[in-house]
Amino acid sequence: MARYCVVIGAGVVGASVAARLASAGQRVTLLERDQPGRATSRWSFAWINSNDKAPRPYHDLNCEGIRAWAELAPGLDGDAWYRPVGHLELAAARAELDARVRRLTEWGYLARLFDPAEAAGIEPALQLSGATAAAWFPGEGYLLTEPLIARLVAHAESHGADVRTGEPGRVTALEAGPGTAPRVRTAAGAVLEADDVVCCAGRWTPSLAPVPLIPWERRGSVAPGLVVRAGPVAPPGPVRLLHTPELSLRPHAGGLLHLEAEDASAAVDVHTPEPELRRWAEELLRRARRTVRGLDEARVVETRVCVRPLPPDGQSIVGRLPGAPGVYVAVTHSGVTLAAHLARLITADLTTGTPPAPLTPYHPARFIP
Ligand SMILES: Cc1cc2nc3c(=O)[nH]c(=O)nc-3n(C[C@H](O)[C@H](O)[C@H](O)COP(=O)(O)OP(=O)(O)OC[C@H]3O[C@@H](n4cnc5c(N)ncnc54)[C@H](O)[C@@H]3O)c2cc1C
Repeated sequence: MARYCVVIGAGVVGASVAARLASAGQRVTLLERDQPGRATSRWSFAWINSNDKAPRPYHDLNCEGIRAWAELAPGLDGDAWYRPVGHLELAAARAELDARVRRLTEWGYLARLFDPAEAAGIEPALQLSGATAAAWFPGEGYLLTEPLIARLVAHAESHGADVRTGEPGRVTALEAGPGTAPRVRTAAGAVLEADDVVCCAGRWTPSLAPVPLIPWERRGSVAPGLVVRAGPVAPPGPVRLLHTPELSLRPHAGGLLHLEAEDASAAVDVHTPEPELRRWAEELLRRARRTVRGLDEARVVETRVCVRPLPPDGQSIVGRLPGAPGVYVAVTHSGVTLAAHLARLITADLTTGTPPAPLTPYHPARFIP
């Protein structure tokens, strides 16, 4: 018999879970207090990869994540959001890159070292020279999360899901206790009693369920990162996802580039004043101009401090919440890479009552006894 599942949050994780549960024939209500896909997922670098994920089970989980998007794309208008363009990395020093490529190759992952002088053969828009090492990861890519999430939500609706946004979708309380079905209260006064409530509220999960995340509001927190979008890019522009020692870059919708940098992200948090953010944004654009061709007319279009939902061990928290019957949580960093695969595993868990083995290391019980 179909279960009644309430999914909280329509980021890439919640939208994927709702779509998968609905297409498995479950009765689904998806609650989102804003519009779908407007929070972390919208600003994410959205690099689908398992490039530096350890230990091995977490690496494998991310590999399955990459495969899950490839499988979903043909049936979900993938041309609009799926970009399996490969990833080019230029490094200033050999040792770490050599060791990583060796480990990944041993694990069966597509990774290859090559002469940095040949990098422009992979990315013709590249103009940076001087790297001492380079690697090519052809199985990686990125997703355009806005069109993706719109399609996931539409897919859920076409399979009968009830999608509520704004005040009717804002959850004010999640109640659970022994012997009772879990209940969700919304800002519009509805009380939804479900078989299962799947909490996919991203960085706001701790306000609804007692799972630990790195506190993102503290000064100096590592959870926030700086995201800059700049353009226009004169055609043809870069095609690959690119990492250099000073910049991460990928194409974005609307003829823009998405830019990030480790030092910029380390320097900002949610309290950083606007002038400081603008200064960093201009610096990232300067770096992008040094890296690729086509940015003569470009300016900074968007600058955003975007917050990672970051469990203390950097991995996922997925499973039934101890002591709260019917409440299931799914919160993770690398959520763009993982969402489609996690959605399959979560649907299997909820519909069979048996947690799939790949979820075992990520159960909330490792934080909540
Ligand atoms: C700078 C940066 C770069 C990143 N780069 C990558 C990357 O390259 N690859 C990768 O895989 N991952 C990356 N990530 C991580 C990834 O973006 C996140 O793991 C993912 O977007 C989380 O998705 P989510 O659906 O859990 O959260 P969100 O997208 O934040 O969605 C949660 C939703 O829940 C809703 N919500 C919250 N509270 C309530 C409530 N009370 N009632 C109703 N709705 C509620 C919110 O409005 C929101 O829409 C990056 C993150 C950042 C910040």
